[in-house]
Amino acid sequence: MKSFPPYRVQVVKEIPITTRQEREEALARAGYNMFDLPANMVTIDLLTDSGTGAVSAAQEAGAAAADRSYAGSDSWFRFKSALEDLTSFPHLFPVHQGRAAERILFSTALKPGQISLSNTHFDTTRANVELAGAQARDLPCPEAADLDSRDPFKGNIDLGALEETLSGPDGSRVGQVLITITNNGGGGQPVSMANLKAVRALCDRFGVPFFLDAARFAENSWLITQREEGYAGKTPKEVAQETFALADGFVASLKKDAIAPMGAAIGVRDENLAKQCEAILIATEGFRTYGGLGGHDLERVAQGLREVVDPNYLRNRAEETAHFARLINEAGVDIVQPAGVHGLYLNAGRLLQHMPPHGFPGHALACELYLAGGIRCAELGSLYLGTFDDEHNLITPAPFELVRLAIPRRTYTLAHLEYVADVLATIAKNPESVPEYRVTHAPQLLRHFNLKLRQVS
Ligand SMILES: *Cc1c(COP(=O)(O)O)cnc(C)c1O
Repeated sequence: MKSFPPYRVQVVKEIPITTRQEREEALARAGYNMFDLPANMVTIDLLTDSGTGAVSAAQEAGAAAADRSYAGSDSWFRFKSALEDLTSFPHLFPVHQGRAAERILFSTALKPGQISLSNTHFDTTRANVELAGAQARDLPCPEAADLDSRDPFKGNIDLGALEETLSGPDGSRVGQVLITITNNGGGGQPVSMANLKAVRALCDRFGVPFFLDAARFAENSWLITQREEGYAGKTPKEVAQETFALADGFVASLKKDAIAPMGAAIGVRDENLAKQCEAILIATEGFRTYGGLGGHDLERVAQGLREVVDPNYLRNRAEETAHFARLINEAGVDIVQPAGVHGLYLNAGRLLQHMPPHGFPGHALACELYLAGGIRCAELGSLYLGTFDDEHNLITPAPFELVRLAIPRRTYTLAHLEYVADVLATIAKNPESVPEYRVTHAPQLLRHFNLKLRQVS
């Protein structure tokens, strides 16, 4: 039987409809940088699934009744109890978003000169590891390098490489192992429970703390129930509890799987570490019972955490993404296989084979989606990951030229996704007509947010 969303639409927001000419002008004004496009010029916004989910009536009811007390508000206790329902961490802290959680945890858990090992560090995660004076090293499993492989858990860390590093000459410098679930930087692929358990065992053997970057804990749990032996009979909530129980601590942006516009959390077991995190939290974010969030944010998170583990919701969301993936494949465009849940990663390098990496095929496809259909999405290719010389020429291309279509939670209908697939099909019929791009301005720091480019006609 086909699944359907376990909710109906009660409040809607109009989306802008624009002409091709208006889009051409808007994109040129933005210097061909998607982050500089005003949202009122975007029809379907697939730039991110962060903070873009539709809130429920129950979330808004909680927000309306929120308690804004500075210390010990009712809203804080509801936030804490929702997290305690999923995790078993004795110390939980609210923060305003994921990167603040990273900054606080890593600046206490990591010492300068140490190494953080991960399946893949997300970009802000890597930045915060480096700001703590440590080095971020990614050890994705080998299957992740084959975009077409349908291996069910391509988000796994390479256990062999992890053991080798921990027992090798750099072993004593490893300050943490951080597993990102699902692996956002690695195609949105899930991590298996077997892999998480093996990481736990290795961390025990070598005395290294094991943390989770758990922004998409519910989607990872859902994929475990669907793909891993022995988990078919478990609920996503049970799998989430089992996942969190394995770790020494976590950071989580709650703008993803808490379906909240704003919010994040830190959880740790170690009392001493908790004390240090709390001191930085209070000094830089807010008191320990609100951490930079308003009572309404705490309430939306508390309710969102209950809604997100509903198997009917997760089943339908995963099926919509899988359906979207099939439409895209029928349109003649390859994606990173197998389809995950929160987004699809288009293989732009393969679609635009005629284009050299220094023409930025991923960015070119993203621009074309906007110009042809008002669809906004982000490049994950040489523009984002490549290295450049001082004249903005590409020196080392990224291994793959990808484009991420992130799918906001509960926000778009299947008809919207079908429209996106239609626009892609039109582009795929005539890929040679897609123009190249050149970088005209690129700052050293946070390059992809602040780039300027020009079209080569
Ligand atoms: C979004 C995200 C973050 C950062 O969270 P923000 O709330 O955007 O600051 C960290 N890690 C992963 C895996 C994410 O997806």
